[in-house]
Amino acid sequence: MKGIREGKTRYTATPGMPELRSAIAQSLSRIAGRPLEAEGVVTGTGGKQGLFNACFCLFGPGDEVLIASPYWTSYPQIVTLAQADPVMVQGSEDRDFRLTPEDLEAKLTPQTRGLILCSPSNPTGTVYSLDELTAVAEWARERGVWLIADEIYRAIYFGEDRDYAPSILEIPEAKLPNYVLIDGASKSFAMTGWRLGFAFTEGPLAAKMSALQSHVTSNASAPSQVGALAAFSRTEEARVAVGSMVEAFRRRRDLVVGLFAELLPEVGFVAPKGAFYLFLRVDALFDGAITDSTTFCSWILEETGVATVPGVAFGDDRFVRMTFATSDSILEDAIRRMAKAIRER
Ligand code: PLP
Repeated sequence: MKGIREGKTRYTATPGMPELRSAIAQSLSRIAGRPLEAEGVVTGTGGKQGLFNACFCLFGPGDEVLIASPYWTSYPQIVTLAQADPVMVQGSEDRDFRLTPEDLEAKLTPQTRGLILCSPSNPTGTVYSLDELTAVAEWARERGVWLIADEIYRAIYFGEDRDYAPSILEIPEAKLPNYVLIDGASKSFAMTGWRLGFAFTEGPLAAKMSALQSHVTSNASAPSQVGALAAFSRTEEARVAVGSMVEAFRRRRDLVVGLFAELLPEVGFVAPKGAFYLFLRVDALFDGAITDSTTFCSWILEETGVATVPGVAFGDDRFVRMTFATSDSILEDAIRRMAKAIRER
């Protein structure tokens, strides 16, 4: 509202208002422990546009882009729209699917140009430790592969060891590959509808992404930039507000994990360390009528009114994803209904 009242309703520079880019660069510099340039920040219409910009600038026909699976459903679509080939790479289920350099090496070909990695992960909630991230980054550096690190859920981290999930910016510079960091206001500041995200990179790619965006959407909505500027620059207020939001998510994570363990011990899941999703393994319930994740989701919706998303949309048909970004009472009611329906089948 403030932005609108103050007349910040005109075009801005394509990559964003200088004061916003600078506030974001300062917040990234604090993570990295070294100064990072505001010129590397390209704001746009959500983190999604950052991903789109990066893939369209970096990849094209004949290129292969590794995607850590289970993956956020838009990654393969964006890579395909860029006319490159998505190549899924799945880590071991014992490691909650987190990738190792060996997993990546097995999928490397002369055409491999990029790797898209999401931590904390949508859909699994798994979080790479800094050592795990460093190992993947070093592999990408050695192989000349661009690392696109989607850290949009970084603030929603349940570990007690640190406030936020580890970031690739914490990796020593000497070990970093060429990278694009994706983040924004959508998840950490609960501003999904404002459509304000960014890509950050060091080097000439930022100008290329900005040039591309200038022919697609121009700048992110100006009033949204003003709103995001408050979130990125009023750091102490934001820290407190994000802290209490994460506390609520942590409580809900504990609630859903506890209820599933108690009521449906036969249904496995990845214990979420961040984000706000539970990735449930339901293939033990498949039978003649429920044959895959899609039929499971339709059945549970009809039986209980609870909406889940088929794992096939994230690259694994044995699972379904539910979100715990809703109130404790709705979650408890939903899980009790699911347990009853599954018991009575
Ligand atoms: N990356 C992941 C993993 C997401 O889950 C989402 C949104 O759901 C995005 C990126 C896109 O975020 P935005 O709403 O800022 O475009």
